[in-house]
Amino acid sequence: MIVVLKQNPNQAQLDSLIAWLKEKQIDVHESVGTSRTILGLVGDTAAIDADLISALEIVEDVKRVQEPYKHANRKFHPEPTVISAGGAQIGGGSLTLMAGPCSVESEEQIVSIAKAVKASGASVLRGGAFKPRTSPYSFQGMGEEGIALLKTAREETGLPIAAEIADSAQLPLFADVDIIQVGARNMQNFALLKELGTQEKPVMLMRGHCAGYEEWLMSAEYIMAGGNHNVILCEGGVRSIEPEARYLLDLSAIPILRRLTHLPVLVDPSHAVSRAWLVPEIAPAAVAAGADGLSVEVHHDPEHAVMDGPQSMRPEAFDALAKQLSALHAYLKG
Ligand code: PEP
Ligand code: MN
Repeated sequence: MIVVLKQNPNQAQLDSLIAWLKEKQIDVHESVGTSRTILGLVGDTAAIDADLISALEIVEDVKRVQEPYKHANRKFHPEPTVISAGGAQIGGGSLTLMAGPCSVESEEQIVSIAKAVKASGASVLRGGAFKPRTSPYSFQGMGEEGIALLKTAREETGLPIAAEIADSAQLPLFADVDIIQVGARNMQNFALLKELGTQEKPVMLMRGHCAGYEEWLMSAEYIMAGGNHNVILCEGGVRSIEPEARYLLDLSAIPILRRLTHLPVLVDPSHAVSRAWLVPEIAPAAVAAGADGLSVEVHHDPEHAVMDGPQSMRPEAFDALAKQLSALHAYLKG
């Protein structure tokens, strides 16, 4: 349920309404917008008499929210959410470029890639330390050492770092990571999502490759219901009938999610199309469709990358793409 307040509501009346709702075990989320304030009510709202609330002097309107996601719902929070992560601002009409290798491999590798992508305009360094692999025999990432090397790259460049978590037991190792990525295959690992809701670090939630928008938003809701509202969505493709690209990049997700949610929406073209040459072909379309940013795999030596080399752009190619994307973004903003 949402309660739309009249402009400049009487504070004492507002406090007493919130206290009354809390007494009824309703969680009240206040969203102060530029023109009006909205109260988002989560809990057993069926027991709340909407007519009673509508009759209050400070209330303009009361609406029941049909969708099962509440905190993530745009109706709860009409203004776009902007998330701060180690100095980077994500959402609200800016274009955030996250870039880096699939996996951290060595200090020399991660620092040199970090310097290159920073010079090209990336504002977040992405790199994996715990890699969820289809095969148990494949390289699983450098683990704790990989996280330490990402921090070294952050010290060298000032770029905030994003890395994927594979298990909630790893959470203490992410205490000093700026953005925690939940991979596509963990999108419905509800135990992990609940844990991530109990801490404040921004979480980048990849879309499961077989997940619909509502399932994806319900996963965001798991994190938000725990109290962590710093959730970034990232579209990385869905399963399709076509083997030419690994996944089908769903660009419709961007404008549709823009209506459904206030959370920032990024696009990861690299994992979706899985070929380096195809990334710059499709990435501008994501910007044109209104993405809040992109996550792109970049490697200085893709032929020798331990994983995802074929989809990793060389730094020079990323540099050209970054320039093109920021020019397109500036043009579209007018
Ligand atoms: C990645 O970002 O490199 C990655 C492997 O992501 P996912 O787990 O979503 O496939
Ligand atoms: Mn990868």
